[in-house]
Parts: sequence; structure tokens; C-alpha cells
Amino acid sequence: MADYDYDLFVIGGGSGGVRAARVAAGEAGARVALAEEDRYGGTCVIRGCVPKKLMVFASEFGELAEVGSAYGWNMTAGSFDWPAFRSHLNAELDRLEGVYRSLLKNSGVETFDARAKLKDKHTVELSTGETKTAKTILVATGGRPVRPSIPNADLGIVSDDIFHLEKLPKSILIIGGGYIACEFACILHGLGVEVTQYYRGAQILRGFDDEARGLIAESMRDRGINLHTGTNIVQMGPASDDHSAAVPTASDAAMGASAQQENVMAYGGVAAKERPGDRSGPIWVKSTTGRECVFDMVLFATGRDPNSTDMGLEEIGIDIGRRGEIVVDEYSKTAADSVYAIGDVTNRVNLTPVAIREGMAFVETVFKDNPTAVDHDLIPSAVFTQPEMGTVGLSEEDAREQEEVEVYCTSFRPMKTAFAGKSDRVLMKLVVSKASRKVLGCHIVAPDAGEMIQLAGVAIKMGATKEDFDRTVAVHPTMSEEIVTMRTPMRTA
Ligand code: NDP
Repeated sequence: MADYDYDLFVIGGGSGGVRAARVAAGEAGARVALAEEDRYGGTCVIRGCVPKKLMVFASEFGELAEVGSAYGWNMTAGSFDWPAFRSHLNAELDRLEGVYRSLLKNSGVETFDARAKLKDKHTVELSTGETKTAKTILVATGGRPVRPSIPNADLGIVSDDIFHLEKLPKSILIIGGGYIACEFACILHGLGVEVTQYYRGAQILRGFDDEARGLIAESMRDRGINLHTGTNIVQMGPASDDHSAAVPTASDAAMGASAQQENVMAYGGVAAKERPGDRSGPIWVKSTTGRECVFDMVLFATGRDPNSTDMGLEEIGIDIGRRGEIVVDEYSKTAADSVYAIGDVTNRVNLTPVAIREGMAFVETVFKDNPTAVDHDLIPSAVFTQPEMGTVGLSEEDAREQEEVEVYCTSFRPMKTAFAGKSDRVLMKLVVSKASRKVLGCHIVAPDAGEMIQLAGVAIKMGATKEDFDRTVAVHPTMSEEIVTMRTPMRTA
């Protein structure tokens, strides 16, 4: 039998890779090494979920002051100090990176601060020049933001850059209508930036429940985000004195929506390598509606590609998909028996807790003699817009394609902000199978919807029926009590 340096070599120190490494070493007693070329913690901890959520919190305080006044508090929001917040944020990220490093160390995982690529099915080559062998190799290299391939696209920033900005821009154009675009539109608006968002499709947050995405779009516009659907960027460049500093208006947004079909653009997708976040100078932008505007900054939130290039994968017979994803089976095994892949690099469901689950299932399968397929069904998730969306299961539209459904839905002004005279609305929605009575989907748009959907997710994963929801007593007075008090279907489809 071949004698390897390690039982397992993990490439990538993000959430999935770190979990797999430390459980394989700590619980299964494997000899494990891990290589990370950047910071430990990966996208989630260093440039994704964690700093983003802290920015969500930061962005909410201005409005809290406004609501607090209605409750008798003598409050004014004052101004937001970005450098002070950013240095506190960086200190927190340093702390968390330290936690990740010590988790690995304490589990007995040997770490290499180096880029790694595969030399053969059992050998990893490090950027330090060393080579290491392992019985099993796990690729957990995540993904990276991509810019559209238009001239001067490198004048725009990507989500990684936001946390490094020296100062916040006065105005920003955000391109895209997915999670990242919508979340940062709300965050930056809350921090006082004038936000314009161009989305090429008819409605933001494609793939989510139509009613839920409709309410989020409406709330974003009500709050003052200049959201233009059916609109994309066609040209950009440094602004000259000839360019006016106009930003598009709401009526331009309506014009864009009607032109949306023609505006879908087939960009190739260019990887965002450098960090142009603090490139100074306003940027001129021409949109598909013909409008020319000038913004202080442009953020491309146009999707992410798997980090699979230049890793020696295809050379050893591993299949790579159209978007650059490593093709794996239900046990996360690639076409090479000794090589597995988990997380965003496989482009299955690109969420941190899913990567962690995939890592745990990999360890069960390979190191605990317990073949465990990853369950990608009924994954609850949240979009941290303002208001938030929490969702699990099928959208009404997808459920209707599958079978006959009853839709229970209510939208109302929540007590806390209604008292302050605000027009904010929330949405609670259940999509129910007419035949089995099972709740197929739950969609909540409300403050803290992410917290609510985690618990609804347990019931729905267990196969709860509408009648199970009905016989659960309401918690009063809460927003979420509506989930168990909706008695009459709004429609059957
Ligand atoms: P998404 O794939 O969600 O969204 C990309 C957006 O960019 C879409 O609106 C897409 O439009 C648009 N787009 C793509 N290419 C172009 C182009 N060439 N020109 C103009 N628009 C374009 O990616 P994100 O970057 O927002 O997020 C990546 C992933 O990260 C998510 O899928 C999610 O899994 C994860 N994530 C999760 C979060 C959470 O759980 N809260 C938060 C942030 C990220 P179209 O719809 O037409 O394709």
C-alpha cells in the first residue's frame, strides 16, 4: 500500500474546508493538512456573510433613531463614521480568522499558507515549491465575483472590495438583481449613500417567490433606492467635464422595464482580480435605455464563478462544468476516485451552511465508513435586504408547475413601525399541496425573517401539513403568529 504524507489534504480554508479538515482530524483521527492562499475563514468570514451582516446591523441604526422618536425617545441618528466602523470590523475579522486558525491547530491539522494545485491524483504542489501526498484530496476553493466583459469594467468594484473602501461614495450604481446586489443596495442606502440599481430582468431576486420579490422591490423603492428593472449597463468610462452628474429617475425605471427583453446582455464574465475599490474619480455610465449618468462608484454584483482554474484538475481527468464548477456525485466525489470537492467550487447550492454540510457528509463517507449523500432539499435561506426575506421550499410559481396548490397569504403593517407612522409592510405566505396538505413553501418578508424561517424550516423539513400549522397556538402579539392563523386560502391554483 502506498505510503502518503497525509490521509487527507484539504485545499481551501473557508467554512467547508476547515470543517471537513478539523472533523476528519479531531473525530476520525485522520492525519490532515490544509492549504490556504489567502485568509482563513474564506468568503463567508472574511469577505461575505459575516462582514456583510455587520454592515446590515450598522445600516439599520439611522432608521431606529427615527422610529425611537415616535416611542418618546429624544433621538437623532447623527452621522455615520465609516472609518471608525471599518476599523472595528477589521479587528473583528482578525479575531475570527484567529479563531479559525486555532480550531485547525487544536484539532491537529497542519496548515500551509500557500496556494495549492494538484500534480496528480494523490499529490499536491504548493506555491512554496513543496509537494505533499495524501490518500484523499478535498478541493474546497470556493468562488469569486465576476465582472461583465465590457470595456473599462475594472473601474467598477466587486463585493470583496466594499469592506476595504477608504471612504463611502456619495452615489453608487449597483449592477445585478441577485442576493448581493439587493443586500448591498439596502445596506449602502441605510449608510447614507445615494443608491441606483440596474437589473436586466423584469423583477429582482429571480427564482424566489414572485409576491415576496415584488414586496421587496416595492419596499426598496419606497425607502429611496433608485431601482431600475429591465435596464443594464452598456458602456462605462472615467467621467469627463462633458458628462453631466445626473442620476436616473423613477420614470426612467418604468421605461427600462418595458425594454427589458432586448436588454439582456450576453457578457462573457471576467474574473475580478484586482481591488479597484478606492480608484478615485466619478464614472460615466450608459445604460441600455440610452440614459447617460455619472456615479461616484459602480458595484458589479453580477454573480460568482467557481475557483477551479489553474489547479491541475482537468489534467488528471476531473470534469469541469460550463461555469467552471467541479462536477461531483452525491457523495461529493469527482471523476478521480481520490479527489472530492465541496462548497461553491461545485456550484450546487452556494451557501455557507450547505458547504459545511457537504464537508461533514464527506467525512462520514470517507473517514467514518458511513456513506452519506448530501441532502440539498428544503434548504431555508435568508436575503438580508430591508425588509429581510426568509424562504424555504417551493415558490408559488414552482409549486403550481408541480401540482395543484392552495396559497395562504397575508400582508400587513407591523405594529412596531406602524406605531411610528411608517408604511412598511410585511408578508407571510404558505404554499400548500392540495393533495397531501403538506406545506411546500414558506415565504416571509419582514424584519428578522431570517430568524423566523429557520424555525419554520424545521417543521417543513419534517413534512408538516397545513393542519399541523393550524393546530399550533399563536405567539401573541408577534408578526409570525400570522403563519399559524391564516385559515382561508387566498387562491387555489
Ligand atoms: P446571483 O447569481 O444571485 O445574482 C447575479 C445577478 O447578476 C443576477 O441578477 C443576474 O441576472 C445578474 N447578472 C449576471 N450576469 C450579468 C451581466 N452580464 N450583466 C448584468 N447583470 C448580470 O449572484 P450574487 O453575486 O448576488 O450572489 C452569488 C451567490 O452567493 C448567490 O447565488 C448565493 O448563493 C450566495 N449569497 C448568499 C447570500 C445569503 O444567503 N443571504 C448573500 C450573498 C450571496 P439574472 O437574474 O438575469 O441572471
